[in-house]
Amino acid sequence: MLSYDEAIARILSQISPSTPISLPILESLGLILAENIHTHSPLPPFDNSAMDGYAVVGADVASASMGEPVALTLLGTIAAGGDIAVRVTPGYAAPIMTGAPMPPGADTVVPVEDTKRMGDGVWVLEAATPGQFVRKAGEDAPAGTLVVENGSAVRPAEVGMFAAAGRQSVLAHRRPRVGVISTGDELAEPGADLGPAQIYNSNSYAIAAQVMEAGGDVAVRVHARDTLEDLRAAFDACVDCDVILTTGGVSVGEFDFVKAVIEERGSVDFWRVAIRPGKPFVFGQCGGALLFGLPGNPVSAMVTFELFVRPALRRLLGAANPMRPMETALLTEEVSHDPGRRDFQRAVVTEGAAGLRVRPTGRQGSGMLRSMVLANALMIVPEDVPSLAAGEPISVIRLSS
Ligand code: AMP
Ligand code: MG
Repeated sequence: MLSYDEAIARILSQISPSTPISLPILESLGLILAENIHTHSPLPPFDNSAMDGYAVVGADVASASMGEPVALTLLGTIAAGGDIAVRVTPGYAAPIMTGAPMPPGADTVVPVEDTKRMGDGVWVLEAATPGQFVRKAGEDAPAGTLVVENGSAVRPAEVGMFAAAGRQSVLAHRRPRVGVISTGDELAEPGADLGPAQIYNSNSYAIAAQVMEAGGDVAVRVHARDTLEDLRAAFDACVDCDVILTTGGVSVGEFDFVKAVIEERGSVDFWRVAIRPGKPFVFGQCGGALLFGLPGNPVSAMVTFELFVRPALRRLLGAANPMRPMETALLTEEVSHDPGRRDFQRAVVTEGAAGLRVRPTGRQGSGMLRSMVLANALMIVPEDVPSLAAGEPISVIRLSS
């Protein structure tokens, strides 16, 4: 059986980032940029006022005060987006709004708060530092500045910068199209009444939500009954997908047909990994798509998504490091397990003054979805240790993105 490290290395070695496509800038949010973004014009493009006030010659008002106010004659007003119809000379002031271009001759802005209007003139009541409240052309970024680097994660600030640099669209790695197939005759859709041996289909939703959170596009979400025909039809629905995820049907039960259908249409690369939960995980290829067969137990499905599928999706999305960071925390209680498989226990990490602390969420059954709800991390009990005492360090992966 493969170890976790062997399995994830094998998966990632088969994946390269998706071909960049041009996207409207808002659609690039959450993606990885695939080009360098430079400014063509300076940012801001022209000298402008940082305040509502008066554009003046700085030397006129350098020593103004309440006791000795400076009287200036008013010129025409300059609005944001308006024309500069005036030239400011000593003894004059042009009313100017925030963002309006500085008129020629003026080098300083006196805020409205430091003045008093008198007929067609204005009194300046406070000393102004020459040059104050003027935003110089290019002070944010001169023309030709690399403002967002290739490989950057696009956040709202980057989207704003694309727009500020005049870009309507940018090159980014597109979201992988993902098909989510849940399997099982016992499953009912939320909202339906449960039959005597039925449970609600939670995997279809939990896994789709994980895909969305990782940056994937849930292109197909279907349910298949435990028959070859139904499963084939579900795979047919995923023809255009880059990634197909199945849940359930990968164990050794009599109705576990997932591996059979993958072998019919592609190939199984490996089945089973020495981890807990999630041992019956399958990886393969199917009609050009990457195929991840997740176990049916809700915790196993979510944990194997986290361990194998999320890194694969992040790699497709162009992330330089597709893995979540591994951190170290001190156990606040003893944990034990059956040695032999690497155990990814659901855990709660807290941040204290002395670093990270961690404890298990409680019972760790692979069908206990509440252990995922209570958890904010997975803590990793190594293959070869039967137990770790309170106070010992342990590796943790925090789950929130
Ligand atoms: P399987 O791997 O198909 O044998 O399923 C293992 C366990 O997970 C069984 O108890 C199933 O009822 C449960 N299970 C499988 N699929 C789902 C699902 N989509 N939602 C909730 N539980 C599931
Ligand atoms: Mg099943």
